[in-house]
Amino acid sequence: MQRYKCSSVGIIGSGIQGVCIGLQLVKKGIPVTIFDRIDPLSNTFKSASYGNAGHFSPYAVLQFNRPDVLSDVPKMLISSYGPLALKWNYVPKLIPWFINYLKTFNKKSMLHTAKYMHQILSLSNDAYEEIFREINTNNLVEKKGIIYVWTNKNLKSRELEIKVRKDLGIEQKLLTQKEILELEPNLQPVFDAGVIYESAMHAKDPHGILKEIFRLYLKKGGKFIQDNIQELKQTGENKTIIKSNNQDYFFEKSVIASGAFSKKLTDQLGENIPLDTERGYHVHFKNMEYLISRPVIFLDRGFGMTPMNQGLRAVGTVELGGLKNPPSKKRIDYLIRCAKELLPQLGKHEDEWLGFRPTLPDFLPIIGPSLKNKNIIYAFGHHHLGWTLGAVTGKIVSGIVAEEKTNLDLSPYSSKRFN
Ligand SMILES: Cc1cc2nc3c(=O)[nH]c(=O)nc-3n(C[C@H](O)[C@H](O)[C@H](O)COP(=O)(O)OP(=O)(O)OC[C@H]3O[C@@H](n4cnc5c(N)ncnc54)[C@H](O)[C@@H]3O)c2cc1C
Repeated sequence: MQRYKCSSVGIIGSGIQGVCIGLQLVKKGIPVTIFDRIDPLSNTFKSASYGNAGHFSPYAVLQFNRPDVLSDVPKMLISSYGPLALKWNYVPKLIPWFINYLKTFNKKSMLHTAKYMHQILSLSNDAYEEIFREINTNNLVEKKGIIYVWTNKNLKSRELEIKVRKDLGIEQKLLTQKEILELEPNLQPVFDAGVIYESAMHAKDPHGILKEIFRLYLKKGGKFIQDNIQELKQTGENKTIIKSNNQDYFFEKSVIASGAFSKKLTDQLGENIPLDTERGYHVHFKNMEYLISRPVIFLDRGFGMTPMNQGLRAVGTVELGGLKNPPSKKRIDYLIRCAKELLPQLGKHEDEWLGFRPTLPDFLPIIGPSLKNKNIIYAFGHHHLGWTLGAVTGKIVSGIVAEEKTNLDLSPYSSKRFN
């Protein structure tokens, strides 16, 4: 076995980034401890990696930093009933993020994000397949593609998305309304057309998959400590300290994989990173998952439905409102109304959940060493695609820790772009 230089690593966060990074490091023979305030094997674990829509979406290169949505944003923010919402009490705190976001509303930034999302997204399914060979994915992963539907209202945006994906060589199959209804006959025909990504997969239980990966990590010798981390420091050439209220833990290197909560730690390291959160919601319609065979996303509404083991999961919307505001009843009502527009036979919902997408204003994650502390490595900010990118982030970050050479251009993911 190849010997790696690093003698120990501490990882803060047991979401999908943390467990995938941990797994890749223990596979290299490096001793690892993952910290989380909640045990990922417990039923109280409700992080973004638990409640997402479960799409493995290697095609999703375009995000919301694009000129064609600029004119719609103010309208959507003012309306309390649409795919985008704002908690007004959060506006002053959102300003740094928003100023940076406005700077990216141009074609050049859009294509930069698309190019460098594509660089890692195109490796994402293979990275998962490698892990899936080592865990039991029975009844956890489905390979039936993912469908997006739309009305003819925003065709210019649809044309732009199709073109960008075509230019990047992404496989996509456009569908008429009739073809969509042949695939998903229970849907109401309230849309005009759509697209299917035939090689896309979906999770029938994201938390179930995360637990399987975490168990594999433990089996290979990884450690877990349930603790709420308050502070992180590099104190010497090869020494980092992770501190909770009760204890100090020492490692040669540390990784921040704390999702939307990472900013508290990076602020302490003297880096001004404009990480914020796009809040999203889900509800379940129990025993209704049979109504569709694969995820269906209604682009005009900013919401989707995924057939899962817990039921039909209606999931989505973006709410700018920080980490502390309570959940919004209106967002839940919006999700339910959207779900019933496509499937009027749905009855009562259960399990209202609010989750925090960790989002940077240019919609690229931060993956790489801290600018001032080279033994602290960042792995957060994967916004709408953190579930898809977990396995590949694990590979990239473990390579950085082990100081391996890579053919990837990692510079666009550096926190340098904000400092
Ligand atoms: C509604 C919704 C739908 C989504 N759908 C999809 C999808 O279909 N496909 C996709 O690719 N992505 C999707 N995402 C995005 C994806 O879920 C996230 O990007 C991803 O889960 C983030 O993973 P993470 O490991 O970075 O963070 P998290 O999953 O948030 O994990 C971070 C962990 O760190 C822990 N932590 C934080 N701070 C501390 C501390 N100080 N001490 C100890 N522990 C700490 C937290 O407890 C948490 O468990 C969706 C997100 C939402 C909200």
